[in-house]
Formats: sequence, C-alpha cells, structure tokens
Amino acid sequence: MTESKLSIVDLTKKYAAGLAPAVDRLNMEVEEGHLVALLGPSGCGKTTTLRMVAGLMDPTAGSIMVDGREITQEPVNKRGMGMVFQSYALFPHMNVEQNVAFGLQMRQVPKAEQKVRVAEALDMVQLGHLGKRATKALSGGQQQRIALARALVVEPTLLLLDEPLSNLDAKLRDTMRTEIRSIQQRTRATTLFVTHDQDEALDMADRIAVMNGGLIEQFGSPVDVYERPRTHFVANFIGQANFLTITVGEDVGQASAAGERNYKIEVPGLGQFGAVGAPGLTGNSLPVLIRPHRLRASLQPSTSAQELKGTVEQVSYTGDTLTIAVRVGDEILQSQLHTTSGSLPHTGDTAYLSWDPEHAYILPEHAKAV
Ligand code: ATP
Repeated sequence: MTESKLSIVDLTKKYAAGLAPAVDRLNMEVEEGHLVALLGPSGCGKTTTLRMVAGLMDPTAGSIMVDGREITQEPVNKRGMGMVFQSYALFPHMNVEQNVAFGLQMRQVPKAEQKVRVAEALDMVQLGHLGKRATKALSGGQQQRIALARALVVEPTLLLLDEPLSNLDAKLRDTMRTEIRSIQQRTRATTLFVTHDQDEALDMADRIAVMNGGLIEQFGSPVDVYERPRTHFVANFIGQANFLTITVGEDVGQASAAGERNYKIEVPGLGQFGAVGAPGLTGNSLPVLIRPHRLRASLQPSTSAQELKGTVEQVSYTGDTLTIAVRVGDEILQSQLHTTSGSLPHTGDTAYLSWDPEHAYILPEHAKAV
C-alpha cells in the first residue's frame, strides 16, 4: 500500500444559489496512514465532503491535494481511490472473486497477477474460502468485507468509507469495527471514514473531525475531542455531558504540562468549587463540562468536600451502571456510577454531588469579561 497525505483547503459546496453552503471553507490535513473520521449529525456535510474528495462531485470552491499534488479537477477514475459505501454496492451478477478483481481488470493488470492479488485481498478479510460464491449468497457482514477487499485490492491512494457499518446489526457492527481498523492499520491505507456514530469514531479513528453545519468545529484525537471539547456542540455530540454555567474565579496554579490552569469557580448561589481550563479565563462566565461518570453522587453529605445538594429525579439501573438524574436549582445533572451491592437511591432522595477539579473542564468558547 502506498501511503498518501490528503490536504483539503477551503473546500466549499453550494448546491444552489441562495442556499447555505453544505460544506463551508473546510480545511483539514489527513496524515499518511491515518484513519480520520468525519463525524456529525445528519445533514452536516460529511457525505458531500467525501464525494468531493472521491471526485464524484465538483466543489464550488477550494482544493484537494494528495501528497502536495492538486487533484481537484481530476476525473474520478484517475484518482485511484478505493470506496466502500453503506449499501456495499457489489455487482450482483459476479461472484466474489470477480467482484474483487474488477478494479484490476479495469487497470489491465495481467491475469496471473490479478489472481495473486485477489487471493491476498480475500485472505486479508478472511474470506479466501468464498471466492466462487455468488455475492447474493453472502451475509451483510461478508458482503461488506468483500466491498472492503474490492476497494483495497487496487492499492488505493486513499480509502474512502461512507457509513460502511450502518446496515449491519449491532453485534456484527462491533466485529467489523475491529476488523476494518486492524486491516487499515496493517495496510496503512490513509482513510477518510464518514460516520454519525460517536462510539465508532472514538473507537476507530486516529483523528476526528467533528462537523456541524458544513464546518469543522474541532479536529483532534479521540481523547482531545472527548476530554477537551472546544465547544458546547462538540462536548454534547461526542458523549454524555453535564454543563453548569459558572463564574471563573482565581487562577490557583498550573494544572498540566499542556499549560492548563487550576481555577476556583463559583456556581452562582451554590458555592465555590474547582475546575481546569485554558489560561486567562478569570472573570468570565462560562460553561463547565463534567461527564456523568465523573460526577460523584452520595446520599450522605461529606464532612470535608464542597458539594452541590440536590434531589434525585430519576434512577436508571442497567446492571453494571446506575445513572441518576439530580435536580440542583434549575439544572438537571446526570451522575453515572458503577453499581455496588449497596442500596439504590430513590426518586425524591437528597443527593450530594462532587467532583475532582481535574474532571471539570471550563469550555473556552464565548469567553468574555463579565
Ligand atoms: P447524513 O448523515 O444524513 O448522510 P451528511 O452529513 O452526510 O448527512 P450531506 O449529505 O453531505 O450531509 O448533506 C449536507 C447538506 O446538503 C444537507 O443540508 C443536505 O440537505 C444538502 N444536500 C445534500 N445533497 C443535496 C443535493 N443534491 N441538492 C441540494 N442539497 C443537498
């Protein structure tokens, strides 16, 4: 597999005059051998972006480069990309081997070499034994693996995957996730992967581009976008999230090697707590993010720690976790706990909420002096 770097510069698509752009001056670099997930809600422009990279759609403006070479105007069959769609799109009148060999035939690869490469590609997806099978006699997961083998066999400059797992049932989706990731890592195919499923993106990607309304809201590693979301939208889209609007108080020292600071924060009317955030936030009114599994809940007040006092509104027990919704003033906060043999809280109980300062992250967006 040849490794390639993809650069997207100011890429824009307007479907019609008067409509907002479906993709709006999008910039992104995909490093060689990386898998990048385009993640976002329906209609945010993921597929439009992928189709422009594939050459299936002309951009309104901007450019696409592979290894520094501009390919924006190149026709689809010259781009040498491999694509896998949600719907597999296998050729129904061909058997498995013929499907996988198709791209090699188009490129007039000699017959003997075709045979070797098809066998290798089928082995890679662990379906070497099904070469002569008709494609309609395969399960959904097998069809998707054949589609992957067909895309990889031509050693594409880029592998483009458009929601490849969304037609599979939950269990198969999990297996295929691991499989696609391991094949991608072995072949080191630079890959763009469209998904609206945040778990899939977190699990599979080296980098995630979180998209909203045709724009990238954040581009970063899975840990970055989960732990250090730049906006309310990213924090909410990428996982369960509690937000409290707070006033940032005194900077009380360095929090991490990355330059973050520890702050005192004031939850209006409810007391002083600790949180971390970017430098220079003192005096701002900002949202603080606390993930439910990092919000401790107790039915007894602590004698030492500062806590928020609230009332349990809902209890949801799923075996290994227990989520309780606690009303604190006007806010409802979710606390997720690993269940123990202790007694479960009930609706109406008083609960005391607390957190470690390093698990409360002040979002930098809309920082303004109050
Ligand atoms: P989904 O997850 O639902 O597939 P997506 O993030 O891939 O969504 P796109 O399909 O790229 O989103 O669509 C982005 C925007 O462009 C949407 O508002 C959509 O309605 C619009 N759009 C897509 N295709 C066309 C078209 N052919 N003509 C006009 N508008 C379009």
